Amino acid sequence: RPIHRFSTAAAVEELITPPVQVNITKLLINGQFVDSASGKTFPTLDPRTGEVIANVAEGDAEDINRAVAAARKAFDEGPWPKMSAYERSRIMLKFADLVEKHNDEIAALETWDNGKPYLQAAEAEVPSFVRLFRYYAGWADKIHGLTVPADGPHHVQILHEPIGVAGQIIPWNFPLLMFAWKVGPALACGNTIVLKTAEQTPLTALYVAKLFHEAGLPPGVLNIVSGFGPTAGAALASHMDVDKLAFTGSTETGQTVLQLAAKSNLKSVTLELGGKSPFIICEDADIDHAVELAHFALFFNQGQCCCAGSRTYVHERVYDEFVEKAKARAMRRVVGDPFKKGVEQGPQIDSEQFQKVLRYIREGRDSSATLECGGDRIGSKGYFIQPTVFSNVKEDMSIAQDEIFGPVQCVFKFKDIGEVIKRANNTRYGLAAGVFTKNIDTANTLTRGLRAGTVWINCYDVFDAGIPFGGYKMSGMGREKGIHSLNNYLQVKAVVTPLKNPAWI
Ligand code: NAD
Repeated sequence: RPIHRFSTAAAVEELITPPVQVNITKLLINGQFVDSASGKTFPTLDPRTGEVIANVAEGDAEDINRAVAAARKAFDEGPWPKMSAYERSRIMLKFADLVEKHNDEIAALETWDNGKPYLQAAEAEVPSFVRLFRYYAGWADKIHGLTVPADGPHHVQILHEPIGVAGQIIPWNFPLLMFAWKVGPALACGNTIVLKTAEQTPLTALYVAKLFHEAGLPPGVLNIVSGFGPTAGAALASHMDVDKLAFTGSTETGQTVLQLAAKSNLKSVTLELGGKSPFIICEDADIDHAVELAHFALFFNQGQCCCAGSRTYVHERVYDEFVEKAKARAMRRVVGDPFKKGVEQGPQIDSEQFQKVLRYIREGRDSSATLECGGDRIGSKGYFIQPTVFSNVKEDMSIAQDEIFGPVQCVFKFKDIGEVIKRANNTRYGLAAGVFTKNIDTANTLTRGLRAGTVWINCYDVFDAGIPFGGYKMSGMGREKGIHSLNNYLQVKAVVTPLKNPAWI
């Protein structure tokens, strides 16, 4: 397997071999793993080599119909929405325990299908998945309405009820975490679900869904349809019997699914879309620390993060030193087989994303930006790309405006805070931002000025189950995680009763 030219550490050569095999490749409908109605399958590929891992049942509109019918029945006839919230919570907690028990296998499957470093999956992502389910299991029996004083002798109850059947469409960059962000709150609120996974990464959702049924999830509550966007995804977004749609992916597809939802039954929609997030390094920053954080903010997960800190703004007084050190850090980045210890960066997800990232690198090279390092593929097999740094990047370049979704850091120079706020906000996106300074006034000015759903100060990519996440502008609609996500999956019903001869009137 290719190892980036600067990685010579012996630890990198050590291969981790967790137990992993693919047992489940069918659709999950009404608690059963079944073939697709058409009998069609599609291959899911190993991004290290482009070789087939497994052929997976390919769902389309007919399978979505079957899955929605199962979810509808499970919602209307129960038991899930009707069982005690305490019981729902216990099943979710049992599921979390089972996932924790199978941590290494699940992480290995995620790495195999997605290409992310195994230790990242095993030590961070699967544990975060477990944490998310425990967090929402904790909410299940704390969701309740309220009463309000009415004008006149009436008793008014505000009930919070599950919405019904939730359609959920997720991307390939964090298959397990996207599953947790969507499924956790929807189930805690008593909804039933049809989940469409990304065609690049169908495997881990099927694996954990089996564990969920072992934990006692009733059939039909969670249905999973593997398949493609324009077929299965579009059928879900436009289905008349789906009450709520939650989508994560590109802004363009977000616009498409919003239209499909509007033209069908006006189902309520939440969207988590793309970003081009600024990471702002002020003149008082500790440069070595800032270099490391800015590097992490961009290169984490092969640069395939919606909130990647993909525009690094550096104050002119520290710019030259920063660029030199950022280049050195990128050249030290260890790229290779994600199952090897010490590897920081695996392959891009697939040929399409790989070609797209290389095209942006070519456009950067053809512009007046300076290519500091990288710029090419690694090896001749799989989708490995050199960690790439461009300096002297200007706002009108395509590498400055578009979401590259790859290991390409773009460094800009700025003079003062007012100017950098304007430039940072000058994008159609508004998902996240990073601020690096020791000055509390500067930090407060930046956090109030930046139009983004998350601002990290002197840190980046700090996520927790309770922290809401979502975008301003074309980065999305609504928030996921935390208490905010519960509202996405609840209806509000006002019940008004006259009070006959109340003692206190
Ligand atoms: P995408 O938006 O095409 O796919 C995301 C999900 O939507 C997948 O499950 C896909 O099958 C589904 N989908 C695609 N077309 C659909 C349609 N017409 N109707 C319903 N569902 C549909 O994203 P992608 O192709 O995986 O990646 C393209 C770009 O999206 C990336 O380069 C990146 O910029 C961005 N992206 C963003 C995120 C994020 O977390 N915000 C995640 C992945 C990709």
